[in-house]
Amino acid sequence: MKRILTGDRTTGNLHLGHYVGSLQNRVKLQDDYDTFILLADIQALTTHFERPELINSSIYDVAIDNLSVGLDPNKVTIFQQSKIPSIAELTIFYSMLVSVNSLRHNPTIKTEAKQYGYDDLSYGFLGYPVSQTADITFCKADLVPVGDDQIPHIEQSRKIARRFNDLYGKGEIIIKEPEILLSENSRLMGLDGNAKMGKSLGNAIYLSDSIEEVNKKVRAAKTDINRIKVSDKGNPDICTVSKYHKVFNEGEYKNICDMCKNASIGCVSCKKILGDKINNLLEPFREKRNYYENHKSEVKEIIISGSEKANKIGNETVKEVKSAMNILI
Ligand code: SF4
Repeated sequence: MKRILTGDRTTGNLHLGHYVGSLQNRVKLQDDYDTFILLADIQALTTHFERPELINSSIYDVAIDNLSVGLDPNKVTIFQQSKIPSIAELTIFYSMLVSVNSLRHNPTIKTEAKQYGYDDLSYGFLGYPVSQTADITFCKADLVPVGDDQIPHIEQSRKIARRFNDLYGKGEIIIKEPEILLSENSRLMGLDGNAKMGKSLGNAIYLSDSIEEVNKKVRAAKTDINRIKVSDKGNPDICTVSKYHKVFNEGEYKNICDMCKNASIGCVSCKKILGDKINNLLEPFREKRNYYENHKSEVKEIIISGSEKANKIGNETVKEVKSAMNILI
């Protein structure tokens, strides 16, 4: 089986945007690929270094989010980044092979720096594509499933792997160049209709939300603001709710749009249908979540044994890297 490396930053619970852009696909891939899921607590520090308690509690939360949507701990390897010293070692080695300018010009870094309001980037933030390369290559991953916004990072990782092999490989491949597995549906708009759904933007429906929370959030979602009365004809093209119908209620999407355009459905009813659809999707996840919330020691064991497995592979990789670099005594 080819190996996949995927994962999430441990900066809070995961939401529907993560589900649509990544988790849903992860569940499908787990039968055909050796799937490694990174709980990225070190990477979380690059933006949340002042909130270690959030990062700590999110290790469980993110692991449970993954397990609740159907990732099977008997098939996938869930591991904690800070438990893998080989990732830190590889990050140091790779950092010699990347220029500061290439990191500064990385479009994803630029966008994220703007999003977080950083003028003066920390060394850790600027260098996170380097540590991401270590995340991918320590376990010799063949493929990385990503949305198109993450492509520059993977290109950077491929460049680092090539540079390493050219410099130290003596004609052999020491570091595997990861391939991109492009995810469909990589973006889900937030409920405010202004930006991609995000943990820190207050525009998300979380996988852990209750039925009532989902309904309340959907009721507050942005619609066509020109539609004041039920008798006003709507424009679903500028309505966030209709975009959600397209994703979560595909079968009725066209009909909903037609009814909106000829004012034969009101926004309240339209949102009620959407809320029910989202709750139907989340219901089986809630059952699993409930189980794991009540069996946290099981979750801990899954993370520990996954990290042990990942560590063995990582130690081998570092040994090969040091040997190629001639720094093994
Ligand atoms: S009826 Fe539905 S699609 Fe049309 S504006 Fe209202 S919420 Fe949006």
